[in-house]
Amino acid sequence: MTKIFMTRPLPDSVQAAAADLFDLTVRPQTSPLTVEEMRTALSDYDGVVPTLGDMFSSEIFVAEPAWRCQILANFGVGYNHIDVDAATASGLTVTNTPGAVTDATADTAMTLMLMSARRAGEGERLLRAGHWEGWHPTQLLGMHLGGKTVGIVGMGRIGQAIARRCHFGFGMHVAYHSRSAKTLDFPATQMDSLLHLAAAVDVLVVAVPGGDATHHLINAQVLSVMQSHAHLINIARGNVVEESALIAALSAGDIGGAGLDVYEFEPVVPEALKAMENVVLLPHIGTAALEVREDMGMMTVTNLKAFFTGEIPPNKV
Ligand code: NAP
Repeated sequence: MTKIFMTRPLPDSVQAAAADLFDLTVRPQTSPLTVEEMRTALSDYDGVVPTLGDMFSSEIFVAEPAWRCQILANFGVGYNHIDVDAATASGLTVTNTPGAVTDATADTAMTLMLMSARRAGEGERLLRAGHWEGWHPTQLLGMHLGGKTVGIVGMGRIGQAIARRCHFGFGMHVAYHSRSAKTLDFPATQMDSLLHLAAAVDVLVVAVPGGDATHHLINAQVLSVMQSHAHLINIARGNVVEESALIAALSAGDIGGAGLDVYEFEPVVPEALKAMENVVLLPHIGTAALEVREDMGMMTVTNLKAFFTGEIPPNKV
């Protein structure tokens, strides 16, 4: 029977679906695989279900001329932790879970936008600390999102879902910068450069994939052209934003605030960010809803099933 290794526990329904089809081993730990564990997974199993943090770099694949493992069915749409070229050169197929994550991640972006613009984290900390002395007209005044302009960096599935929420739900103007032309069913202004977009908007939202091409895409220069009241939201990958430059921009008052779901050196979050009132910090919960994690898991099972019955998996990357 085909042997499959899940690198983390997934929802019960997903494990049951996989166990119906395969000889399934579930690693009980919730931490990323070590180098040794990655090599063992590739040599002892026919398929592996890795996820964020399992750093399948080229050094892992080149350690052996041929592996037993034929497929990495990644749990998640983002697969920048897998060197796909090296995996392919070693004869492995890589799949991911696009679509299943889109709405939940867009919702998390809206959560961060609202919390950052309306100072919700700061207000909750004030209340929990026992410092709230009651309502008054000039307390905790934030920025109203209605009528403001959101700038989307990476107008893909999640970027468009965020833009739709901003336009239809909040009456915001939408602007974006994109490598390829987009056909959209809502009004949105395409800007000719990332710098022009950053300078023009009240909220800049990052929704590009991680990886070498987007490493530090949001750097000191981009932050320096943003308006001093503007907020930066990152639900993409931590190293798309140069964290030290973000801390400097926030400290200097060059931007108004930030809402982050992901971090450059995750799970390490700089003390400087934790100390700032105008920063909202979420622990990478973009897709953290049971139904969503079930959908993602079922997509990995579908990809594995297709692959091992000789078909091209629907979500081959
Ligand atoms: P997607 O549909 O592929 O969209 C990505 C967009 O980024 C595309 O519009 C693409 O532009 C653009 N892009 C790619 N490389 C770029 C570059 N070098 N410069 C500028 N733009 C670039 O992906 P998605 O499903 O929306 O997911 C986006 C990312 O969100 C994932 O890769 C993942 O890392 C992250 N994510 C995070 C969470 C979380 O828990 N926080 C959850 C889900 C996903 P083109 O259209 O021109 O190619």
